[in-house]
Amino acid sequence: GSFESLGLNNALVSNLKHMGYGFPTPVQRKSIPPLLRGKDAVIMARTGSGKTAAFLLPTLNKLYLDGVTRGSAKLVSGIRCIVISPTRELAVQTYNFFKKYSKGLNLKACLLVGGEPFENQFAAIATNPDAVIATPGRLLQILDQITYLRLQSVESVILDEGDRLFEGNLGKDTRKLIELFFDSPSSGVSYTCQKILVSATLPEALVDFAQLNMHDPVFVRL
Ligand code: AMP
Repeated sequence: GSFESLGLNNALVSNLKHMGYGFPTPVQRKSIPPLLRGKDAVIMARTGSGKTAAFLLPTLNKLYLDGVTRGSAKLVSGIRCIVISPTRELAVQTYNFFKKYSKGLNLKACLLVGGEPFENQFAAIATNPDAVIATPGRLLQILDQITYLRLQSVESVILDEGDRLFEGNLGKDTRKLIELFFDSPSSGVSYTCQKILVSATLPEALVDFAQLNMHDPVFVRL
């Protein structure tokens, strides 16, 4: 199998070729087709498996094509994709992959992590990014401050390294975010928003999340 045969757009595949990605990894082969069809998914994979591209590539493909069919990606306004990462380092890494994979596609991501000045992040949000890549604590703080920020435009939410996201204090922030996203019909994300959960293990908190918030998810196991 090739990236093309999984249904990814040529522009995206060409970026992958330039990065030296010849063939999809097993988790990418199993995840990309259902995610391109818009399915919710629980992806059981760890770092090193190619899990980041497994969720980013179909997401970018969707963001890009929706923009193309509307004439310009920029006509679609509001945040369309949110990636939640347990650590600042993982968020930065994911943000860098987003930029590389989406080169030339006219998509913009915004990084919201702790330890950075709020001003820069407010300014970044004001530029109308397609995607937000964030850690739970900082995203909560920002959502609390920018009350005009709407979530109805969000088409996909990705929880990366879900087992870590639900641990300890981070777990409290993650649960608050989930409540904001999914438990408020008036200000949360729409019912049709695609949900992707990536995790090496599947502790009870994640099973609960999948049962409560996901719609008939596919389970990807290697
Ligand atoms: P991850 O599991 O997302 O942390 O990715 C692990 C590493 O594999 C990263 O450095 C990626 O650049 C690389 N990678 C992911 N997918 C592929 C692929 N299909 N071909 C070659 N390298 C890849």
